Amino acid sequence: MPPVTLPTDRLRLAIQKSGRLSTDSLDLLKSCGIKIKAPKEKLLLHADNFPVDLLFVRDDDIPQLVMDGVCDLGIVGQNVLEESSLERRNAGSRHAYSVERVLDFGGCRLAIAIPEERPFSSLKDLEGLRIATSYPQLTGRFLAEQNIKADVVTLSGSVEIAPRLGLADAICDLVSSGSTLEANKLRAVETIFKSKAALIRSDRSLTAEKSHALDIMLSRIDGVQKAADAKYIMLHAPKAALAEIRKLLPGSENPTILPLAGDDTKVALHAVCQEAVFWETMESLKKAGASSILVLPIEKMML
Ligand code: ATP
Ligand code: ZN
Repeated sequence: MPPVTLPTDRLRLAIQKSGRLSTDSLDLLKSCGIKIKAPKEKLLLHADNFPVDLLFVRDDDIPQLVMDGVCDLGIVGQNVLEESSLERRNAGSRHAYSVERVLDFGGCRLAIAIPEERPFSSLKDLEGLRIATSYPQLTGRFLAEQNIKADVVTLSGSVEIAPRLGLADAICDLVSSGSTLEANKLRAVETIFKSKAALIRSDRSLTAEKSHALDIMLSRIDGVQKAADAKYIMLHAPKAALAEIRKLLPGSENPTILPLAGDDTKVALHAVCQEAVFWETMESLKKAGASSILVLPIEKMML
């Protein structure tokens, strides 16, 4: 990686250059009002309107960049993070970091899978097997915790074809829908690690300016993440049914109640619901007497 010179007071954030986390990472920054011009071609990009520089790298390099203090921050899957941290700890390298926020994307699980036809009744059936994985640390830790003796075969990719090639009897790999497993005639028998993307931070201390910028970024991330599920609900309610209707609103406090022009028997109610508003909720509201029910998305939130 070529050396880069940067002003010292700008945060440096490593994100995945191209892959499953790239678009969501950039979208999150955009939602936080951080403007980034056409990324991808460059290794390093300066945000125009926020003191942050983005470093575009392979996801596997992100934990190391943060743990070595080359970057102040990184967005990476907890799976890669935990694997790297264990590996570095075993190798005696710096492995400290803090998770600033677990993010709403990049969800997946690391699971042990075996050929469909292989019988399986308990984890003990894994005893003595060769398990292929790109996550030898997490797999090894799980087997040790479960007191199972098995051989971990480390492969950097295409783990799912290892049993067919006779390289392994089972695998431990990332699963989301399960279609890759199905295509390779494998079935998941145990989830060993659940993962989401996380914003991590180096344990080196930040300058006051960087620390201030990070506080702003975190409060904006919270605003975006809180808003993701929240909805703004507006409806008309007969005054007599108001108490019952308020009880039906999911996760909302202190709604605004407004008079309705030309109708003394009803009021307009506006409220922020912190939880999803389902069709069932709307149907119950209608049944309780509410009418003209509108549910609107919320883009950002600052409480
Ligand atoms: P790179 O070229 O950056 O090394 P990669 O091929 O290792 O990329 P991707 O496949 O882009 O990585 O996955 C990046 C991360 O996305 C994973 O480590 C995991 O945290 C997350 N992820 C979310 N869903 C899935 C999935 N279905 N399969 C694999 N990874 C997933
Ligand atoms: Zn990778």
